[in-house]
Formats: sequence, C-alpha cells, structure tokens
Amino acid sequence: MKSLVGCLSTIWWLVLLLFYPVKPTYSESQAIDLSKYHHYEDVEALFKKLESEYPTLARLGSIGQSTKGRELYYLQISDNVSAIEEGEPMFKYVANIHGNEAVGRQLVIFLAQYLLKNYHSNTRVKTLVDSTNIFLMPSANPDGFENSRLGIKSKGNDDTCEGILGRQNANSVDLNRNFPDQFRQTSNFGIQKETQALMDWIESNPFVLSANLHGGSVVASYPFDDSKGHKLTDVYSKSPDDAMFR
Ligand SMILES: [Zn+2]
Repeated sequence: MKSLVGCLSTIWWLVLLLFYPVKPTYSESQAIDLSKYHHYEDVEALFKKLESEYPTLARLGSIGQSTKGRELYYLQISDNVSAIEEGEPMFKYVANIHGNEAVGRQLVIFLAQYLLKNYHSNTRVKTLVDSTNIFLMPSANPDGFENSRLGIKSKGNDDTCEGILGRQNANSVDLNRNFPDQFRQTSNFGIQKETQALMDWIESNPFVLSANLHGGSVVASYPFDDSKGHKLTDVYSKSPDDAMFR
C-alpha cells in the first residue's frame, strides 16, 4: 500500500471542496496567470512577489533542499503571518511529489494567488485566512518536475498520460514510496533528502489537516490504510464513507 504521505494525499479532493465550494468568478480570477506551467524559477519569483505585496498575509519558507539543491519552498498564508496565534489550526497542501504530476502543483500556485488577491473582497476567503494557518507547497520534487517534459508519451504515438519521465527525484527514487512503511521495506536507496525534509517538517509542526496532491487517477487514500496482505494494485478498497464519494 502507499506510504504515509501517499496516503495523506488521498483526501485532497475532499479538502478542495472546503476551499472551493463556489467557482471563482471571472473578476476574481482574472489577475491570476493560468497560461503555463510554472518552473522552479517562476515559483520562486512569484512567491517572493506575493510575500512583498502581502507582507502581513504571506511568508515564503523552505523546509530544506532537493537532491540537486533546489529549495523546497512553501508559502504560508494567514492573518498576522509572522505570529503564532493560539487556536488557529495548521493546514497544509503538498503537491508534485511525483515530479511529472503537475496539476496539483499548478492548483496550489493558483490557490496561493487566489487567497491573497481576494482576501479583502471575498468574505469566505478572509474567514479562511483569518482563522487558519495555511501552508502551500507546490512541489516536493522540484528536480523531478524540471526533468519532466510537456506532452511526453509512454509508447508510440498513443495519446496516453502514462509517461514517467520526471516522476522520481534526481536519484531515480520514487519519493512517494520512500517513507517508512509498517509492512514493506523502504527502497534500497535510503531516505532521500526531500523525504527527510518532509518528515522533519511534519514531525515538528502540529498540522491538523493535510493533503498530498497527485495526478492521473481518481483516488482518495487515507493514512494507515494498508495491511500486511494487501495487494498493491487492482483492488477496490472501500472506505467507511465510500457512498458519500460516489
Ligand atoms: Zn503520484
């Protein structure tokens, strides 16, 4: 079954519902650039710009560096962002741990801009930002993303999205399966820098709700939902709230 972070990923779309109960209107989203995938330098520049434009609401941080030395950036968004406010729950999105799964990466970048640009005009956004300590990490695998290619295909000329170039980190390790597992041995390559940084971040901060965004299929996994005899693939595992998701 999946690693811890992989499991956390699975409630991503449920949490999306919390953040996106209403489709943004054109006027709300028009100032947000959705025209391209953001490369590492684009994210860095954008988050620095947002931090300088919204100094009380946004703060750029990094939990460490990737194998190739790229920062593992996050943008923290909250009212009084430089202070720890008692009673404000910590929430986080982590995306793009599979470097070629880029939709989550873009959604997180979009969400950061949406929350900040609409803080003063949208009551629901203001309530979320005022009452929550939000951490948005567009990429847990920036080396993998930079290694991926737009439109790459797995075989021949079929129009699938099954190519895996950029899925792994610079050491060719699948970071999503690199966390300690209660039943299966972690890869022979050892815990990677990106994985260790995520584990340290998770263990040193009391996040109360998190999701890890993937791309490629409609799946919601939960933490600790594995079992000793569980097949890795081709099995439908019902959650207690399966009916609600249908
Ligand atoms: Zn994935």
